[in-house]
This record gives sequence, structure tokens and C-alpha cells, in this order.
Amino acid sequence: PFDVLVVGGGPAGSAAAIYAARKGIRTGVVAERFGGQVMDTLGIENFISVKATEGPKLAMALEEHVKEYGVDIMNLQRALALKPVAGGVEITLENGAVLRSKTVILSTGARWRNMNVPGEAEFRTKGVAYCPHCDGPLFKGKRVAVIGGGNSGVEAAIDLAGIVAHVTLLEFDSILRADAVLQNKLRSLPNVTIITSAQTTQVTGTDKVNGLNYKDRVSGEVQHIELEGIFVQIGLVPNTDWLKGVVNLSPRGEIEVDAKGQTSVPGVFAAGDCTTVPYKQIIIAMGEGAKASLSAFDHIIRDGAH
Ligand code: FAD
Repeated sequence: PFDVLVVGGGPAGSAAAIYAARKGIRTGVVAERFGGQVMDTLGIENFISVKATEGPKLAMALEEHVKEYGVDIMNLQRALALKPVAGGVEITLENGAVLRSKTVILSTGARWRNMNVPGEAEFRTKGVAYCPHCDGPLFKGKRVAVIGGGNSGVEAAIDLAGIVAHVTLLEFDSILRADAVLQNKLRSLPNVTIITSAQTTQVTGTDKVNGLNYKDRVSGEVQHIELEGIFVQIGLVPNTDWLKGVVNLSPRGEIEVDAKGQTSVPGVFAAGDCTTVPYKQIIIAMGEGAKASLSAFDHIIRDGAH
């Protein structure tokens, strides 16, 4: 049995594993894909103290750092169920194995919802982006679109309007759903165009994005916009389906945690993009992972089980 079992091998899980192992307790990591979202990222320029790096390089560094300690890494393994049991928690894997641990740290991350239109996948990291905090500065002085008129889309459009030349915000519905204060702010900006009832149908480009097509849902006509970047803001989906009914989740499916990373289940902690903690970023996920791990250690020593 483990003292700390981490489910998820991204930045949050790696930090949690290192903090636990440094306490000299039995630590394991189960990861469907070690590295997590970082593996899909090209340029990273906001991991403080590292001016610029690339996703696969950072993922490699995470793995090397975790391997410096006696952490049992179970890569390419998917957790299917969590069950509180006397003195701890059981995690069942897809391969049928049942792992037992005094504490568990959930760090299964999240995934951006895709538009699923032609060109989106092809031009990912070549103009199609998902994170304005990460990639906004790459489009300085250029024209971009933001897809989605909810709070995250409108916030992204306001943020980007301060950096890029022009922002076109496209919303599928006939109205924006963002909070009124955000909408008012957006409408006050001189370099923003808002188009509602617009269904994006295609991302166009050659080696990089050069525009997008959308269907005007009122007239049925297809329109083309020339631009250099597209930020897709139609939702971030936490990887928490397997925890429904066991651990308290928010209406968006994020694991509810308190300031120490404690979930609704004693001995179960959570960190990173899968939780209710706002702003999904590498540096934040790592900090939260460290915090959840220290909380798990605290739980173990108070439980008298160590
Ligand atoms: P993740 O990185 O999502 O890791 C989750 C881990 O859990 C993975 O190992 C996954 O395989 C595993 N997992 C999921 N479900 C299960 C399961 N059931 N069983 C076992 N394992 C499971 N942030 C920045 O700070 N700067 C950037 O420049 C930046 N650029 C980005 C670019 C892109 C294209 C994307 C997609 C994200 C970017 N981000 C960036 C965001 C950043 O990658 C995330 O905030 C960060 O990776 C979150 O870390 P995490 O550990 O919480 O989750």
C-alpha cells in the first residue's frame, strides 16, 4: 500500500509526487499519459525563471525530476474508480489492478473543448490557440478571432484587444452569455467586432492560419474573415467523469477543494486543472500540487497512521 497515491502525471501530479517522496513516504503516480497537457504545448514563456521552453522538453524534465526520488510511476494506466475504505482509499485501474493508499491526490487535469471543424486540428499551434494567457503575446499587432461569447471568451477578447491589432468575437447564439460588466467593457473597446449567430465552419490557411469561415445562422450565408489567430474559448472540460457521485464536483465538473486542496472525501486531495481553483496554468498547477501533497502528509501524521 502507498502513503500517497497521485492520479495524474502532469505538472500538478509531478509536484505532488516530489513533495510526498521528499517526506520519505511511499509514493506512487498513476498516469494515463505522463506530462499531461504540457505534451501538446509548443512554446512556454510564462514558467517563471525559465524564459522559454517547449512542452515535450518540460515534460521530460518533470519525469526526470520525479524519477530522482523513489516514486513508483505507473505510466499509461487509467484510473476508473475511487472508493473510500477503512484506513484509506482504493483506486481501481482499467487493467483491473486495485491500488490501496492512505491518501490520494487527484490531478487528472482538463482538456479544451474543440470546435471540431476542418482545419482546427491541422493548424493547432500554427494559429489555432486555446490559452490567451499563454499565447496572446505571440499575436502582438495581428488580427485574431475569439470563438465563444461566454465569460471566458469575452475575458479573452478584452485581454487580447490590449495586445493584438483587432479582435473579432464570434458567438453561435444570438446573444452573448457573459456577465453584463464584461460585455460593457468589451463593447467599449475600439478594436473589437462582435458577431452573433455565427457558426464557425472552417479554419483556413496554408502553412499557418490565414482566416476562418463562418455561417451566418440567420441568413444562412457563409462569410470569410482574414486573420492570423483563432482563440477557441468554448469550454475547458475537467477529466473527472469517473469521480461523479463519489467526490463533490462543481456544476462544471471541477473537483471542489478548500484552501488546503482537501476534497469532500477525507484523505482525498486534489490539485491543478481538474479542480475549482481558478486560472489553469502550469505554475499554478505545480503550486497546488505541492500544497495538496503537504496536506496529505499532514493528514497522515494526524491520523496516527504513519
Ligand atoms: P494536465 O497537464 O492536464 O495533466 C493531467 C494528467 O492526468 C495527465 O498525466 C493525464 O494523462 C492524467 N489523467 C487524466 N485522467 C486520468 C485517469 N482517469 N487516470 C489516470 N491518469 C489520468 N500553461 C502555461 O502555464 N503556459 C503555457 O504556455 C501553456 N500553454 C498551453 C498550451 C496548450 C495547447 C494547452 C492544451 C495548455 C497550455 N497550458 C499552458 C495549460 C497547462 O498545460 C495546464 O494548466 C497544466 O498542464 C495543468 O496541469 P495538471 O497537472 O493540472 O493537468
